[in-house]
Amino acid sequence: MDELQRLWDYQKIDMEADRFEREMRASPKRQKLIKDRDFLLQQQNTMRKIEQDLATMSERIAALTADSGKLEESLRDLQETLEETEPETLDIARKSLDYCQKLVHQIGRMEQELQKIRKDSDVRARQQHEVRVRAAKVKAEFDTLRTTYDVEYKAQNSKLEALRKQSVEASSGIGAELIEKYKQIKMHRSPPVALLSDDRCGGCNMNLPAVVLRSIRTGAPFVDCENCGRIVLVKVNP
Ligand SMILES: [Zn+2]
Repeated sequence: MDELQRLWDYQKIDMEADRFEREMRASPKRQKLIKDRDFLLQQQNTMRKIEQDLATMSERIAALTADSGKLEESLRDLQETLEETEPETLDIARKSLDYCQKLVHQIGRMEQELQKIRKDSDVRARQQHEVRVRAAKVKAEFDTLRTTYDVEYKAQNSKLEALRKQSVEASSGIGAELIEKYKQIKMHRSPPVALLSDDRCGGCNMNLPAVVLRSIRTGAPFVDCENCGRIVLVKVNP
């Protein structure tokens, strides 16, 4: 069989394999799995963020509790001292009271911050729970779908492998250079080979220039389409 006829026949199988592979990729089950996987990854990130926030908040709660504990202790000590020993001067008494008030104020501010952080922390903990429940639901759905998809994929993949094998077989008898050219064109035009149709490229439908048509009339078995870059076969059996 003529090399160009082989190329034409090889392209048919190659295109069939490509089409089948595209169909496999577009499978609704596969699309849903990808969607679920992306969602789960997103939830994992959210979980990590919440865990970090909770850890930061818990550190701040511990630090505030310790600090306000110390201040309360100082306040108690000061109050005891004031009760036990009368201040020597009015000025000292005033300063001691001012200091007490300052401590009370500081403790109050810390209490406010603690309350706010505890509230935020509760909100984050609730979010954490919601994310966990939602993610678990999607994960279960994902696992079930995965099981059925794996079976489907295995069957489809062996069909694809058979098609690929068939196309490799069909490529025997075609020169390495021509196959390479086919693959190069295929990177931007698929199918890469077209038939001549009424002096036009069967791929892009453009009229071939006079000089190219002349070379066809003088026996060229194929030409390159200047417009789309395809190999245009002159005489093969479709
Ligand atoms: Zn063309």
